Amino acid sequence: MSLLVPRAAGSLTIVNIAAAPGPDNALGSVRIPLPFAAVRHMNTSPSIRLQSGDALIAVDVQNDFLPGGSLAVPEGDAVVPALKRYIAAFAARALPVFATRDWHPPNHCSFKAQGGIWPPHCVAATSGAEFASGLALPPAAVIVSKAATPEADSYSGFGGTDLAARLRLGRVTRLFIGGLATDYCVLNTVKDALAAGFEVLLLADAIRAVDVNAGDGARAQGEMQKLGARTIRYEDLAS
Ligand SMILES: [Zn+2]
Repeated sequence: MSLLVPRAAGSLTIVNIAAAPGPDNALGSVRIPLPFAAVRHMNTSPSIRLQSGDALIAVDVQNDFLPGGSLAVPEGDAVVPALKRYIAAFAARALPVFATRDWHPPNHCSFKAQGGIWPPHCVAATSGAEFASGLALPPAAVIVSKAATPEADSYSGFGGTDLAARLRLGRVTRLFIGGLATDYCVLNTVKDALAAGFEVLLLADAIRAVDVNAGDGARAQGEMQKLGARTIRYEDLAS
């Protein structure tokens, strides 16, 4: 009995303690969502207004990098409708759109037969090198071909091209960058853009990774953010 009484008392106490946090929790559940909701609101409100000085860069959205291509990026085709929306938004405001592409000769150094690490891909003037048909690039889009000689490779759209000069000529200061693949050509294009002094907005909903090693894409995205790229989604654009 003497044991049961304390137990009973203890259980009562525990019930009271358990009951006591109820109102606190209830208060907490009121307090916590308010700032949380405010943060969510800030993150989801369409806060980015496209303006003069902005340019879009669609990185390597070519058939060989899409499912069925010789160097297919998993879900690579998902970037096509995603980028199409950005392209339409830029075209509607008469803002410049750039599209980079691998434009390799048949004996390119990045191909396995030449000691490279990739299967043949994006050989100039083949269907594999064509832009995805659903991309709907506007006629005024500027095409930037890279790695077009046997000995030169470049994951970056800035490597060995006049992209930076063209952007500066157009008084571009802020770049919206998406395409394929997150962990190679997007990563290196973004890094070069930041190093060249451009502000970079990475289009999180319009990139996909090769992920040769699991997590490569996520690591690349983290690296780009650490270097100063801001990650956005289409919904962040003001209409
Ligand atoms: Zn290539």
